This record gives sequence, structure tokens and C-alpha cells, in this order.
Amino acid sequence: MQVFTSVIVTGIFFAVFIYTDVKDYKRRKVNSMKGLAHVIGTNSIPSLQFQDNESARDLLAELRNSTPDITHAVITDKNGISFASYTRPGVDSSGFAPELFGKTSIYGKKAFFIISDINNNGEFLGRVALQAELTELDEIKSDRYEMAAILFFGALGFSFIIAITVQPYISNRLLYVVKTMKEAGDTGNYDVTINDKGKDEINVLIRVFNKLMQDVRESQQKKDEFIGIASHELKTPLTSIKGYLELLDSMEDRQPNKQFAGKALDNVNKLERLIKDLLDVSKIQTGQLQLEIEDFDMDKLLDEAISSMQMVSPIHTITREGDLGGLIVSADRQRIEQVMQNLLSNAIKYSPGEKKVIVSSKRDANLLTIRVRDYGIGIAGDELMEIFERFYRTKGLSVHISGFGLGLYICRDIIQRHHGKIWAEREEKGTSFYFTLPLKKTIGSKA
Ligand code: ADP
Repeated sequence: MQVFTSVIVTGIFFAVFIYTDVKDYKRRKVNSMKGLAHVIGTNSIPSLQFQDNESARDLLAELRNSTPDITHAVITDKNGISFASYTRPGVDSSGFAPELFGKTSIYGKKAFFIISDINNNGEFLGRVALQAELTELDEIKSDRYEMAAILFFGALGFSFIIAITVQPYISNRLLYVVKTMKEAGDTGNYDVTINDKGKDEINVLIRVFNKLMQDVRESQQKKDEFIGIASHELKTPLTSIKGYLELLDSMEDRQPNKQFAGKALDNVNKLERLIKDLLDVSKIQTGQLQLEIEDFDMDKLLDEAISSMQMVSPIHTITREGDLGGLIVSADRQRIEQVMQNLLSNAIKYSPGEKKVIVSSKRDANLLTIRVRDYGIGIAGDELMEIFERFYRTKGLSVHISGFGLGLYICRDIIQRHHGKIWAEREEKGTSFYFTLPLKKTIGSKA
């Protein structure tokens, strides 16, 4: 772009420069030829008055030495009949064509013509016509073209060198800003600051970006603090409400009172789950989610998670394929159970009209892999990663199903803290969620 602009600007500059130079030369030439014609006319008055052709011819012959670019000259009498003429030696005399169509001067392609009247005290005696070749103009033009070409290519080369040395510096910084912005947008990690020592517009852009990131961090921090405080404050009264409702439910046998208490309890349980999730999110944000590692039987945990989910949703059939032969792992049992409960409740929640959910497990030398597969609404390919982001909910059918988009975010954090991985894969129908736990190093296998 820079080179292109330089080419255009330099091109325009030289076009204007050559045009004005040539125009100036032509103006000067017209003036000097007019002066010359006037001098010849004045000096040929006696010759015309006394019909002395010879002295008029001598006068014209002087042009050979005084003005060598004049190729033809003629003096005509008042009737337009040639009185004396001159053709520069070596030039074809038939090339003279002073047809000026009423003008006093004209620039042809190859020659310049001028005609001037000869008057003596107001009496018209005849005319002088001169023709000059344009070699000098051609020389001036080719000189200017040469100079323009040298300067033009010089400027072009210079701007090209500037472009290839300065441009990468500019574009690399810009690309880095764009990359950082994109990364922050994609990952939701706004904890980024770009260091730049430049003193140009890109530095202004970078400073604005850094300020924006700082503002986002501050507002996120405020939001996280609010979520933390609000969920903490809600937890105590909710626990108390739940206690009283459970008491009421167990004491009351009359309908519809018992039914109302049961419904109220269901909703309180939902609210309690949400508050637990919000508290977990707050702990993750502040780095306070701690693991309590213990040894436990993984088969037992999976069976328990399945049967408790089976009780919540008896219409679904949750089956287990294969077992781990009583594998004992060291991990945070409660948190791994939380992950299983979340994956199973999602598998059920997002499978309206489908009954089958399969839990399978696989053990390699160093790795335990658990899979929860459903036959539900499925997840679009480009959302398989995003569903693990905070508050993310897919754009498809799941918008009609209640949820907050926190469960998978918490699951990912729990699994990552165990140095494992969690991901989702599309199936022909439905989705498979996988998570792994390493069996050696941090979490030892005791099987
Ligand atoms: P929630 O279910 O409360 O919205 P999650 O974090 O558990 O939050 O899930 C995030 C989103 O991922 C859900 O809103 C849903 O769009 C999608 N999702 C999760 N599990 C499944 C599944 N088994 N099948 C289809 N979509 C799912």
C-alpha cells in the first residue's frame, strides 16, 4: 500500500513537472520567434519598397548562423506572392507548410510555425513566415523523461526498502494485538497485558486495549465477588427453609398439604443446586476450590452415581458396560461424584423422549477413562469446546431446557485439578462425554 501510494504520488508529481516545463518552453519559443519575425519584417521593409529580392534573400540567409533551428523562412508581398525565401541547407524545401488557418503561430508535431505581418506606418506590405524544427523541445522532453525516470525509480526503490524494513515492524505488532484480542475473546481469559514501547498510533491502540482488559478484569472481579457474597448469604436461609419443609413433609399426611410441601421441597432442591454451583464457581475464580484426596473404589462410585440418578429419573435406563475390577483410585471422591452426577443429569436432561444412557469405563496402564453416552439432542461440532465455558449454553434445542451453563465449567475445573482431561464428542445420535484421570503420579492406582 505504501509503495503503491508512493508510485502514484511520484508519478503525478513528475507528470505535472514535465507538463509545466514544456509549456514554459513553448511560451518562451513563441515569444522569441515573434521577436525574430518582427525584426526580419522591419529589416525587409526597404527591400519590399524597392523590390530588392536579393537583399531580402541575404537577410534571410543570415538565419543559418543566427538561428540554426529555423528550417524555412519566406517573405511574401502584400498579394501573398513569395518575394524571398530561405531553406536551411540539407533540408527538403517542400517540407514548408505555413498554413496557420488565421492563427499567428502553431505547434505542429514536428515543427513550429509563425507568421507576422509587415507594416510600415500602418501600410500593409507583406508577411514573414518562419518554420523552426522542434529538436530542442524533443531534447528537453527526453532530458526530463530521463530525469523523471531516474528519480521515479529511485523513489520507488527507496519506498520499497522502507516498506520491507518498517512494514514488518508495524504489521507484526498489529498482528500480535489482533491475536491477543482473539485469544482473550475465545478463552475468556482477560488477564492479559501487552507490553509495547512504541510511540506511534499502534501504541495508542495497545494502551486502549490494556485499559479495556483492565476494566473487564475489574468488572469481572466485582461480578465474581457479588456471586460469591450473594450465594453465600442465600445458603443459610435456604438450608433453614429446606429443613422446615422436610419436617413439614414428614409430619403432614393430609392432601393437598403434603403435595404442596413436596413441590416446594423440589424447588428448594433446585435452588440449592444452583447456589452450590455458584459457590463452586466463586471458589474456582478465587482459587479456593481445594481437593480432598482419599482412596476409593471407582466401580462403587460409578454404581452409586448411576443408582441415585436412576431414582431421580426412573423413566430412563442407565446401564453400565464393563467394570474396573474394583480399581482403587486416589482422588477427591465427592468432587468426582459431582462430575458423574452432572454428566448423568445432563445426559437425562438433554435426552427428551430418549431413554438410553450408557456409562462405560476403560483402564490403561496409566489412565482411567470414563464415558457417559446419551442418545439425546446432540451438540453442534463448533460448540463441543465452548460448552465448558462459564455460563455457556448451546444455541440449539437446549434453550428450551432449564439450566445455567455452570455444571460443565465446574466439571472441567475439577478434572483439570486432578490432572485429567474432559471433552465431548458428537455421536450419530446424541453425545458422548469423556473424562480421564491419571492413575500414577498424583492419583495412584492401588488396584
Ligand atoms: P446447564 O445444563 O445447567 O445449562 P452445563 O454446564 O451442564 O449447564 O451444560 C452447558 C450446556 O451444554 C448446556 O446448556 C447444554 O446446552 C449443553 N449440554 C451439556 N450436556 C449436554 C448433553 N448431554 N447433550 C446435549 N447438550 C448438552
